[in-house]
Amino acid sequence: MNLQASPPPSNLFYQSRQRRPLVGEARGIYIWDADGRRYIDGSSGAMVANIGHGNEHVLDAMRSQMAKTTFAYRLHFENEPAERLARLTASRMPEGLDRVFFVSGGSEAVESAIKLARQHAVATGREGRWKIISRYPSYHGSTLGALALTGMELMSGPFEPMLRQMPKIPAPTCYLDRDDLSMEERGIRYADLLRDEIELQGPESVLGFIMEPVGGAATGALVAPDSYYRRVTEICREYGILLILDEVMSGAGRTGRFLAAEHWDLKPDIVALSKGFAAGYAPLGAMVAQRDIADAVLAAGGFVHGYTYAGNPLACAAGLAVLEEIERLELCANAREVGDLLMAELSGLKARYPFIGDVRGKGLLLAFELVSDPEFMTPLPREIDAHIHLVEEAYSRGLIIYSRRTRGGLEGDHFMVCPPLITSREQVGEIM
Ligand code: PLP
Repeated sequence: MNLQASPPPSNLFYQSRQRRPLVGEARGIYIWDADGRRYIDGSSGAMVANIGHGNEHVLDAMRSQMAKTTFAYRLHFENEPAERLARLTASRMPEGLDRVFFVSGGSEAVESAIKLARQHAVATGREGRWKIISRYPSYHGSTLGALALTGMELMSGPFEPMLRQMPKIPAPTCYLDRDDLSMEERGIRYADLLRDEIELQGPESVLGFIMEPVGGAATGALVAPDSYYRRVTEICREYGILLILDEVMSGAGRTGRFLAAEHWDLKPDIVALSKGFAAGYAPLGAMVAQRDIADAVLAAGGFVHGYTYAGNPLACAAGLAVLEEIERLELCANAREVGDLLMAELSGLKARYPFIGDVRGKGLLLAFELVSDPEFMTPLPREIDAHIHLVEEAYSRGLIIYSRRTRGGLEGDHFMVCPPLITSREQVGEIM
């Protein structure tokens, strides 16, 4: 198929500089194009297809829901899939997080978290609090509220005049630091930047702090030292600000636990979920909040926020079946086991090739970074365009991986290797 010769598609979605083939079928960890060429979905799309493609249990649940109803407006009817999914989601959350608000994607989940946090401040007589501190680099979504939290000029640049930017602190990129501190000491130092920023902004103006417990595309699967998570939690409690976790990418089993927060026993006030939550079977996300936060807002007159498609019965039926599959197939355990193997294999490559400067992540949220000097983690010169060459080379050999040219605004070439959580040990060999 000669795509270069065909006219550009009118669907603005397909704006990629690199034309791609038409998709055909997808099953398990594989996708075939319309010409029958097979690809390994080595990044689960954009870290979405966690339970793999073509899962029959999910397809059956969707077919049977479709036969009943695909839409009933939430102000006119409650629907069973949404009720059951809310209960199942709450049962997978840390204690007390059992108020679930459904949305259609990650940006909407983050927007909803921002709105609930702000309304909670107003409802509890703390109108002066409106700032949510986030990290740089980071990605929290492309709608204007989520973009104000996002630390990535590439995404926010053109919209600066329209944004009310939120304060940012550096993400804990401890692996880049060259000093005499231990990793744990560096973790504390980065966490203390949150305290400094709260003091700088004025503690009475700060509503919350948002972070991805394991970083996504902006930082390339960044994991902080344990000390970071402990100290950040202490600081949030000390200043009475909400801890909001963006688990849009790291949630739904991707890191080997249902929430990445569980690795550090974090007790967030609000969590944003999407991507693996419906694993690509339907546009779905959720904001999950502590009971007393949501109840205070409801008692003060209700949550002033909503989307037409929120709680859509078909999307919720898909999400419910996806969560059932994550449990039935024990995908958190598989993500841990296969993730360890894949991490070991990637680390083996690092030992062989000096231009692989770092391999990191948790479970099956993994990334590696290319550098010109591993000792100082010097980025490759821009002209090399390593991320394009590597991604294209892999693509031409039937492997899809996900790359970012920058670590947010910082220089660096990192590559996400995040196959579906159903990936077997043999398939790790195939990916390698
Ligand atoms: N938050 C994180 C951590 C993400 O990785 C993303 C998407 O990549 C989003 C939010 C936004 O999600 P969506 O693209 O579904 O709006």
